[in-house]
Amino acid sequence: MDNWCDAVGVSHPQLLSANASRSYVLSSPSGPINFTAGLRVAEWGGINFWMGYPPRVTNQVLYVHTAEAQKTFLPLISLKAFYHETNRCVVIDPGHGGRSVGTKNLATGLYEKDYTLDWAIRLQTLLSTNGWKVVLTRYNDMDVALSNRVAIAEQCQASLFISLHFNSGDVNRERRGIETYCLTPMGLPSSLTRDPVDEAANLRVTYPNHAYDYNNFQYALKIHRSLIRETGLPDQGVQRARFMAVLRGQNRPALLIEGGYLSNPREARLIADPHFRQKLAIAVARALVD
Ligand SMILES: [Zn+2]
Repeated sequence: MDNWCDAVGVSHPQLLSANASRSYVLSSPSGPINFTAGLRVAEWGGINFWMGYPPRVTNQVLYVHTAEAQKTFLPLISLKAFYHETNRCVVIDPGHGGRSVGTKNLATGLYEKDYTLDWAIRLQTLLSTNGWKVVLTRYNDMDVALSNRVAIAEQCQASLFISLHFNSGDVNRERRGIETYCLTPMGLPSSLTRDPVDEAANLRVTYPNHAYDYNNFQYALKIHRSLIRETGLPDQGVQRARFMAVLRGQNRPALLIEGGYLSNPREARLIADPHFRQKLAIAVARALVD
């Protein structure tokens, strides 16, 4: 870790606590980054993010995986230099639609597909009056194949793709909060896997969207921070997955937001409230208009 810090020109991480859990702070141009040896969840700017491999300490020396340094720490410390393209076009993807209803709102009995469309239309209104060309993958209650959602972004040469969803903890009604996902970089384990066998087999597979690892993570950090600040919902962190077909085929930065849990009674009621969905839209728009 110290060698890498020297190479990129930031000071070495400082040890904060030397007891059983050794935690460190890395001072960077983007602000302090807090992490702990042996833990995959770290903190920056008031939000959590997941690493593929936890940092390790051997003989008092701190190690991070090379891919983690390149794909997680580098985009994070370089966030200050982040800029949006001048020809901005974003494709907003309201998850589900038609027969694909998504998850059910515990409080209202309505479905995820309706809430994602409403969120997308609110976001479209905010972004299209702030310098973005906005295209939605669907404008009404219709079923759109995942491959078509990617094709729509390809057709209009989008500079960014954002898929909007709401989550379900299935039988776990306690689980709540916001998650922001991007594609797991090659060689790193995902924070969320659907099929462990498939995940292990695909660790070395490259997808078109891997060309955007750096910006994927930067957009995810910026948008996730804005979402947590605006909504005050529990922070489930910026995470990475490779099973999301709507992300991995993208030839542009792409992310997927889970804007709360429809299976949690409290969040189900919140998501049913148009004021809350407006907050979700404002949060994403703020991160993209700076
Ligand atoms: Zn969904």
